[in-house]
Amino acid sequence: MTLIVKEKQNLNKILDYLNNLSIPYKVNSTKELYLLDIEDTKNLLDEKILLSFEGVIYMTPLLDKPFLWSRKTKNEDTIIPLNHYTIDSKHITIIAGPCSIENKEQLNTIAVQVKNIGAHILRAGAFKPRTSPYDFQGLGKEGLTLLEQCKKEYKLPIISEITDLSQLDLFVDHVDIIQVGARNMQNYELLKALSKINTPILLKRGMGCTIEELLFSAEYLLKGGNNNVILCERGIKTFENSTRYTLDLSAIPVLKKLTHLPIFVDPSHAVGDWQYVESMSLAAIAAGADGLMIEVHHTPLCAKSDGLQSLNIQHFHQLMQKCKKIAQAVGKEIL
Ligand code: PEP
Ligand code: MN
Repeated sequence: MTLIVKEKQNLNKILDYLNNLSIPYKVNSTKELYLLDIEDTKNLLDEKILLSFEGVIYMTPLLDKPFLWSRKTKNEDTIIPLNHYTIDSKHITIIAGPCSIENKEQLNTIAVQVKNIGAHILRAGAFKPRTSPYDFQGLGKEGLTLLEQCKKEYKLPIISEITDLSQLDLFVDHVDIIQVGARNMQNYELLKALSKINTPILLKRGMGCTIEELLFSAEYLLKGGNNNVILCERGIKTFENSTRYTLDLSAIPVLKKLTHLPIFVDPSHAVGDWQYVESMSLAAIAAGADGLMIEVHHTPLCAKSDGLQSLNIQHFHQLMQKCKKIAQAVGKEIL
């Protein structure tokens, strides 16, 4: 980390502080300014304390440190291998499926249709984090079994959301990607446990979380050894209430610049209304997203959760056609 400090007496106070903590440093000086390079390899420093010293006029931004998610550590885009498909930045990956698994017939009907239309991965929730405890909570373990049957029958990789550490055994070796929902982005014990497995993780941005906080949550996964991490923008809370959340499209180029991890976008939960899903999907691809996660239901108005924001089969088909054109326009392909 680099600091620029004004005046010798200010510099000396900082050097005393560093010497007390036995942190190595180098000082270069110009006529009036001191350039202090600190080698805090053991992470002993609190940046806020350093900044509070008098005379500090610049400090390397926190995100410039060589975190595991950072392009400073690894510049090439991360590639995530699944059983019959690979997620990379040259292709747009489409995840589609119902919000929740309701029964075998519903799941199979949707799976066949989205596969035929070209979705690469099937999504469906078995454990549902619902705002109201009176709303449908998902089929739990039974739902995951139905999803796994679907994966085998239709040869579609599957993704489902884990809501608690106690479910880990049900997910490992059964789903291809484990989703960490917006509400659990900062469940650090869950992240630590998921860092110890190799199953790819799709980490959703919390609705009240900054890009920096999202990246630090990803760091928990990477630090423990799980390199298969996908980040997903899914809308944040703002004062605007004409959509369910506000899709932060600018997070896409910001994240693509900072990190080598794949960036996905879930427009369905962001806008909360199927009518806006298409435009936000196309915008997300145009802005550089590597993939989309779309809620699709064969009878959206009868869905047990998030029907209003789910595309029907015909609308999903239309969306795929348009996505292909936008993908091509930005030099990518949809297989
Ligand atoms: C979901 O994808 O089913 C979901 C609950 O999303 P989020 O965590 O973004 O609200
Ligand atoms: Mn949903």
